[in-house]
Amino acid sequence: MAEAKETKIRTPKVPGLVKCAYCDGTGKQEDITCIVCGGKGKVEVVDSSRKCQWCKGRGYLMKGIPCTNCGGTGATRPIGKERLF
Ligand SMILES: [Zn+2]
Ligand SMILES: [Zn+2]
Repeated sequence: MAEAKETKIRTPKVPGLVKCAYCDGTGKQEDITCIVCGGKGKVEVVDSSRKCQWCKGRGYLMKGIPCTNCGGTGATRPIGKERLF
């Protein structure tokens, strides 16, 4: 009767949590809570496979200053999203 349609669900390039590039997953920067991940050590990005070209995925350009392009996540932000800082 009904067609057994097995649609394979393709996993899209994961939106999800990745290690915070700014604090390297520690949740802290110089003994204060990381301002990028809020101490969680993880940040949510849309596509973690694309590194931020600006900071080369490090999350910062200079110590203490999160990358303004990716907001410290180290991953390219989706087009159209506001800058964090
Ligand atoms: Zn962090
Ligand atoms: Zn960046």
